[in-house]
Amino acid sequence: MFAKHLLSKSTFVRGIQCEKSLYLNRYKPKEKTPHDSVTMDLFNKGRDFESLFKAQFPEGIDLSVKLGKLISKYPSYTETLLENNTNITLFEAGLVHDDVLILTDVLHKEGQEFSIYEIKLSRTLSDTIKWDMALQYHVCKSVLKNIKAFNVVLREDDNKFNTINLKDELEARQTEVQDNILKFKSILAAKSEPPIPMGPQCNKPYTCEFKAYCERSAGLFGL
Ligand code: SF4
Repeated sequence: MFAKHLLSKSTFVRGIQCEKSLYLNRYKPKEKTPHDSVTMDLFNKGRDFESLFKAQFPEGIDLSVKLGKLISKYPSYTETLLENNTNITLFEAGLVHDDVLILTDVLHKEGQEFSIYEIKLSRTLSDTIKWDMALQYHVCKSVLKNIKAFNVVLREDDNKFNTINLKDELEARQTEVQDNILKFKSILAAKSEPPIPMGPQCNKPYTCEFKAYCERSAGLFGL
């Protein structure tokens, strides 16, 4: 069975930055400006750091190796692996709840308990990371039920790992997460893009990929 979804952790975080960006990402993806070399370099460093952490779980099964780009198959494959194994570690395990699909960096099952690790290249716990984690916690909690620890792994000097269990803090954000999921679904169901003018959100926390499009639109309509 294939899992359908409307939102992912990246589109959720996009919506937190700007609801118009969320809409454009779905309906006008060709208007994005490609990432520059500095951003691409950061993505690559992030992937390297993630691989370093995952190497601590040599028995881990990587779903992205097994399934590649067949994202809709990740949840059912994850479910099968978790049902058939008492102890198992999965990389990129797919879970769906509330029309939201997430792929967890590391999901470790031990008996009936689960520990999750989300790996970030950052040295600090930004609000964007907390939103990303809060959404993932929302889905994991609903699907897996018995979560022992929900960890973010940050980078310290010499690529050392700073692992922090955020479970209690994320629990406190759950009402806001649910409210945002509902709001973002209604934005995606709308017939036109939300009339949001450019502002500080265009550069914070990330430089928006739709800046050129919004600048052109603002010029056309005198906004
Ligand atoms: S450029 Fe600014 S207003 Fe336009 S979609 Fe991006 S964040 Fe939103």
